[in-house]
Parts: sequence; C-alpha cells; structure tokens
Amino acid sequence: MTIDYTGLYINGQWSRPAEDATLPVISPTTEQRIGSVPEAAEADVDDAIDAARTALTDWASWTPAQRAEVLGRFADELELRSEDTATRVSSQNGMPISLARQFEGGFPPLLLRYYAEMATKQEDELRPGMLGGSTLVTRSPIGVVGAIVPWNVPQAITFLKLAPALAAGCTVVLKPSPETVLDAFLMADAAIAAGLPAGVLNIVPGGRDLGAYLVAHPGLDKVSFTGSTAAGRAIARTCGELLRPVTLELGGKSAAVVLDDADLIGNIESFFAATMLNNGQICWLGTRVLAPRSRYNEIVDTITDLAKNLTVGDPLSDSTQMGPLVSSRQRDRVEGYIEKGRADGGRITTGGGRPPNTERGWFVEPTVFADVQTDHTIAQEEIFGPVLAVIPYTDEAEAITIANHSDYGLGGSVWTADPERGAQFARNIASGTVGINAYSNDPTAPFGGIKNSGLGRELGPEGLASYQQLKSIYLDVR
Ligand code: NAD
Repeated sequence: MTIDYTGLYINGQWSRPAEDATLPVISPTTEQRIGSVPEAAEADVDDAIDAARTALTDWASWTPAQRAEVLGRFADELELRSEDTATRVSSQNGMPISLARQFEGGFPPLLLRYYAEMATKQEDELRPGMLGGSTLVTRSPIGVVGAIVPWNVPQAITFLKLAPALAAGCTVVLKPSPETVLDAFLMADAAIAAGLPAGVLNIVPGGRDLGAYLVAHPGLDKVSFTGSTAAGRAIARTCGELLRPVTLELGGKSAAVVLDDADLIGNIESFFAATMLNNGQICWLGTRVLAPRSRYNEIVDTITDLAKNLTVGDPLSDSTQMGPLVSSRQRDRVEGYIEKGRADGGRITTGGGRPPNTERGWFVEPTVFADVQTDHTIAQEEIFGPVLAVIPYTDEAEAITIANHSDYGLGGSVWTADPERGAQFARNIASGTVGINAYSNDPTAPFGGIKNSGLGRELGPEGLASYQQLKSIYLDVR
C-alpha cells in the first residue's frame, strides 16, 4: 500500500495545491514507489507566507506559557506517531530503523518540550547603565522563518529549527527535501491534532528552485538552512543582498583522531556511531581517521574488522546497522569517490563494491581506505557514504596539522585513555564540535560549524536566541 496525499498543509488545513504536479517517493531499498505528495508551486509558497504573516501577529502576542501548552500537545501528538515517523523515514532514506526511532521518532518531541520550557523562563533584563539610568533589554520573535532541510535526518533537523522558532513566537514555512516528504506530512497530522493555530506552521514540498524562491521571498524575516555547502553559498548570497538573517548548517569532513593510548576495541560501538552512522550520511561524521604510526597496522585492522562485520541490509530490520544510500544518484557519487580514492593511491582494506545479495537497492559496501594522504580527494571532499579514509601521523603536532587541513570544521572526535588529554587536544581542532571517545550532540550544547561548514549555531539557548530580536529600551537617561 502506498501513502499518497492530495492536499498541502497551509494555513492549518489540507489545502488544494495551485498546480497538479506531484513528487513521487521511491524506496532506496526496493526501488519501488512508496508514496507521493503534491509538489508546491510558487503560488503555494505565496499562500504559505501570507498565512504565516497573518498568524504571526497573534502567535507572537501569546505568552511563552500559552505557546508552551500548545507545543506540549504537539509533542504529545508526535509521540503518538513516533513509530510511524521512524518507519516512514527509514522507508524513504534508508536510515536503519533502530536509529530512526531514536533520532526521528525521539528527538522532535524532546526538542519541542525543551525549547517551550526554556522560553517560559526568559525574562526581560534590566541592566544598570554605565552612564547613569538603566536599560531594559527585551526579546521578541524575529518573524516569519523559512526553514529548508535535507533528507538525511529530516525530522530531527526540522525540529532543530521548528522547536526554537515556534517557542520564540515565530511562524514557519518549511520546505522539506523531495526525497523525504512523507514524514513531514505526518508531522502536519500531529500539528492539526494538537490544535496548532492556523498559519503557525506551513509545509511546501519541492526542489531547489522552490527553495530559492522561498529564500528570496519579500515576506520572510529569516532563513534557516541545513544542506550542502554549495546550496548554502547560494542562499547566503541572496540573504546577503537582502540583509536577511540566516543560519547555515552545511557539509563536513571531520577528523576522528586516534591517540596512541586509545582503546578503540573497547569503544568500538561509539567509534562506529562517530564515523559511519546512518550509512555514512551525516554531516558531522569523522570520516577522516587519523592513526598514529606507532599503532597504525593494528588500528587499520580494527577499523577494517568493524566495517567488514557490519550488518548491511533492509533498514526496516531491527538488526540492520547499514542500509542503502538515499538515491541511485547518491550511490553513483559515492562510487565515484571510491574510484578516485583508488586512483590516488589509497589501499582498500575492506569493501569498495556493492554488497552481495542486494540485487535491488542502492547499497554500497562499508569501505575502508588505508594509506590515504591528507591532500587526496577522499581526505578533502565530503563523500556522504560509508567510506572511511585512514591517514597516518607521527606525533600530536602533525595530527593537529592534518586534522585542521580541511575547508570544513563541523564535527570531530578524539580517542584516548585519558579524557583530559583528549579535551586538551580537542581545543586545538578547528571545528564547532568535538567528542571525546564518542560523538553525540547534546540538545543543551550549541551545534554548528566554522569555515565551509556554516554560519551560526543551533541547539542550546543559542538556538533559541537565533529566532529572537533584541531591543534596548533606555530608561531614566538624563
Ligand atoms: P542540498 O543542499 O542539495 O539540499 C538541501 C535542501 O536545500 C533541500 O531541501 C533542497 O531542495 C534545498 N536546496 C538546494 N539548493 C537550494 C537553493 N539554491 N536554494 C534553496 N534551497 C535549496 O543537500 P542534500 O543533498 O539534501 O543534503 C546533504 C548535505 O547536507 C550534505 O552536504 C550534508 O553535509 C549537509 N548536512 C548538513 C548538516 C549540518 O547540520 N551541518 C546536517 C545534515 C546535512
């Protein structure tokens, strides 16, 4: 049975799309059509922004506690649908279901409650002045937000934006990726059931041209984007011209630095999660593994064993650790990088092809390259697939140089028996986030990148602040 929608979620209801075009959704596992949604046209974006602008006046005037009550109901409704959400995401993008339950089913309600409560605790700040008098510093919602998200972790990434934006009193027009729309429509069901006021959230599914139309729309006050660096640059150009605030979460090529005292085998599950989770399709993964020459062969063997023994297969099976890539285009891209890695002189220790017994589905074998040099293409460009490049280093100084020899700076990890040593090393890594003996972004901590990995931060109080305007009211000034 396929899941097919005929309406668009605009202004709090399922409305008739302006045109007849549809977006089919294809399973990366079976290569069969599993559903469809209407493709939004520019006229639908106009309607969505009108609805969001109209809703803003009311929603922004509610107290944070009133908004928190509705957002709490939204979280409850999402929780009721969490298994369905996880299944839809796995079916659309190949994310292993065990991970989808945690990221896609679990994070959205958690983030909604976290930010709804945070907003209720914020108060205007009265600051004593330096020149006499005092200043009242107030926060207000930034306005109508255009949120554009990718397909790799669609629900969690949506709520990195939606939860703080709605809690701050903003209204949102969301453009999901064409590959993952069925989860966004289920979210709309939850919003309706929760009684989210009309126009506070609107969803316009479509591709990059529709995204560009949304970004440049005069009715928007802020853009929040997660996706590739190339698209981020184009969006930043538009926002620069319009002087429109923008948050950009872009690509990565992070380093997983194994120090000479590391117990990699003892931390192997965490190492897998930090380097190959979600079939290698996460922006912060540490896909450049830096290994000390003093233990080089042993570390290459450990990582090779890990990759070789992963359970690859149907993402809907509980035991699957690695599913297919999202699309045949993405598989072509990853296979192209594997060829390039070979041609540059990298040595494949496991993988490099398509797994046996997968006649259908866009699978690639978990692949490890040893003897990679830092200027090889596979050590510099984001592959977005299950391909690790192991690079040898001689001492810590060289490890830092290699780790920082990248146009990106998003994630990273340090593996060591001495967490203090690891934290000290992490300070020298040019990146927005680094994990010690694991990598897991915590909702309370700011997440984001430097260099080509983006602008701004999501999560933590910083995530809420990025949807608020500050106003200084100077009091008692003579
Ligand atoms: P993509 O940039 O092709 O698309 C992302 C979204 O942007 C989609 O909804 C797409 O339709 C839209 N889009 C594309 N071009 C646009 C434009 N010019 N104007 C407006 N919208 C546009 O990326 P993708 O292939 O869907 O996702 C993979 C990329 O996302 C990887 O580079 C990955 O590293 C990055 N990513 C980053 C983070 C992060 O938090 N830093 C998280 C997940 C994914």
